[in-house]
Amino acid sequence: LLEVTDLRKTYGERVVLDDISLTVQRHDVVCLIGSSGSGKSTLLRCLNLLEQVDDGVIRLDGEEITDPGIDPGEVRKRVGMVFQAYNLFPHLSVLANCTLAPVRVHGTPRAEAEQRARELLAQFGLEEHVDKHPDRLSGGQQQRVALVRALCTQPELLLLDEITAALDPELVGDVLTIVRDLAERGTTMVLATHEMGFAREVASTVCFLDGGRILEQGPPAQLLVEPREERTRQFLRRVL
Ligand code: ATP
Ligand code: MG
Repeated sequence: LLEVTDLRKTYGERVVLDDISLTVQRHDVVCLIGSSGSGKSTLLRCLNLLEQVDDGVIRLDGEEITDPGIDPGEVRKRVGMVFQAYNLFPHLSVLANCTLAPVRVHGTPRAEAEQRARELLAQFGLEEHVDKHPDRLSGGQQQRVALVRALCTQPELLLLDEITAALDPELVGDVLTIVRDLAERGTTMVLATHEMGFAREVASTVCFLDGGRILEQGPPAQLLVEPREERTRQFLRRVL
């Protein structure tokens, strides 16, 4: 579904991603791990064309989306993203948050968008909050709404950037349960996370980023248990 080849990204003189190559098959869950500043968020933002890359190629379903002729808006219709700060629209109800993009951007008829949003909100235990504004909800509930909002556009690929990092520890589990659910349903995801236990459980592939490079990647049972690189071992010793 996604193929990244020799991606390079700089901010001025600073190389923040270098030599990144990564393949994501349909139904894969790829977890990006690594220290703060290793480039996880930047990589996710590049995949969504929120950042311009300096070099390298990204293909989505065979189409080269790094081609300058590509409309980033069209790519973002197919690739959903959820951030650490849930960024819900404060002046809109939960339901309206979830139907805005499907109706305005994708041209889905309102009735259909609402039905789909209500179904998804119910599946994720949010039905009683449909008509509330985001500030009436807890952080964990808001983040669940943000996930549902991303799902309402039926993205082919979902990018999640440390979506539990801003949550109180007791709310983290709720959000991770949803992600686990999505993984079981075959949603293709690339996610940056500091939750190693979670990565171990849901990832099909774990990538360890170090200084803007993928130092190693592999199945969680290998990479998180018996990594090949000393740097990975050091990192895991610190976070586990
Ligand atoms: P964290 O775990 O803290 O979220 P990260 O792995 O997501 O870290 P990035 O946010 O991708 O790391 O940052 C990678 C590097 O790029 C960092 O050194 C950061 O300072 C730099 N960087 C990120 N955004 C910008 C920007 N807009 N301008 C300049 N440098 C940036
Ligand atoms: Mg980050």
